[in-house]
Amino acid sequence: MAELSQILKQATGVVAARGVGVQLFDEDDRRYLDFTAGIGVTSTGHCHPRVVAAAQEQVGKIIHAQYTTVMHRPLLTLVDRLGGVLPRGLDRMFFANSGSEAIEAALRLTRQATGRPNVIVFHGGFHGRTVAAASMTTSGTKFRSGFSPLMSGVHVSPFPDPGHFGWPVEQATDFALSQLDYVLQTLSTPADTAAFFVEPVLGEGGYVPANERFFAGLRERADAHGILLVVDEVQTGFGRTGKFWGGDHFGSRPDVLVTAKGLASGFPLSAIAASSELMEKAWPGSQGGTYGANAVACAAALATLDVIEDEGLVQNSADRGTQLKQALQLVADKHEQITDVRGLGLMIGNEFRDADGKPDPVTATAVQQEAARRGLLLLTCGAWGQVVRFIPALVVTPDEIDEAAGLWSDAVTAVL
Ligand code: PLP
Repeated sequence: MAELSQILKQATGVVAARGVGVQLFDEDDRRYLDFTAGIGVTSTGHCHPRVVAAAQEQVGKIIHAQYTTVMHRPLLTLVDRLGGVLPRGLDRMFFANSGSEAIEAALRLTRQATGRPNVIVFHGGFHGRTVAAASMTTSGTKFRSGFSPLMSGVHVSPFPDPGHFGWPVEQATDFALSQLDYVLQTLSTPADTAAFFVEPVLGEGGYVPANERFFAGLRERADAHGILLVVDEVQTGFGRTGKFWGGDHFGSRPDVLVTAKGLASGFPLSAIAASSELMEKAWPGSQGGTYGANAVACAAALATLDVIEDEGLVQNSADRGTQLKQALQLVADKHEQITDVRGLGLMIGNEFRDADGKPDPVTATAVQQEAARRGLLLLTCGAWGQVVRFIPALVVTPDEIDEAAGLWSDAVTAVL
């Protein structure tokens, strides 16, 4: 029998058989609370009946009709609907299948539109695994090591991460902005810089939120130098942080917004959005792909938007996020190895450090695995894997939050 490649690291050992809402059942019908949501993808919960119905109906009509040849109705309707939730001025879209592909599309667009070769990214950022996206990723060496030569023209500037520097957020922000100016003076002059690529909350980098002053500083420098601001909302979009876009917390005002994950409840779909003026600077044919904007994925995305709206999922993300964070903080208060509980909405990380204050991925992984044994599925993140993250579907109920917090408390107590 064929075996899974050793290269794949599997976090829990669970073989999923079926899912409903936040609950997942393995092949022996053992129940788990799934606080991973397919890495923040199945935001409407597993197999939401309206998403299932929309996809089933679409499968019987058109599965694939390549949109550079013939359009299909789910895509046309989706473009209209997204127009209602996208930041003002971003009225043109391009669709692909994954976050990495969308990042590459944004990279191509910004280079073509400006005629400039370089991009500036921020420490701890994750933008994907394709070679260009990995070149822009600094959330851990495993995403870059061994793939050299990576793409040239990428410069890295600090992210305002108070925990990393051990400084208050104001000081970390001053430092990040002054270093960005330094990068623009010494490594990548404005005349050579096409874009800044930034996440509103570092995702794979450890669930570290940015802040308003940092985004204002990025916007100011972008406007002053004709640099484009690309906001990577792949993980933070569609209500994940308790607002529709993660950047809404910080007045992000992107020139290009990149989205995926929560867009279609698990069907592969990603998109970039920008102004018509900017999109028209891309050469015809320079963006595209055989499978982008698949009709079934677009139908699922439409149902996803309906569910988010009708069930008030953005507000639920904010409310349940507050409930969860308070519960996790109570656990952290009892265990000095959990040094920080942070995040926005239903995107919350628990940082593990050892007695010397060093990142502690070993304990983080031990607690994650103990939680899985007790029926709570979680993921790690952070440069060393020292953060255990909670990222449930946005349909999670108060009772499910209480149950997860109880299982977490038991797992932490069993390991520490
Ligand atoms: N950008 C961010 C912020 C992400 O979190 C991810 C994936 O986790 C990506 C890009 C890449 O997306 P994908 O894994 O779909 O290629």
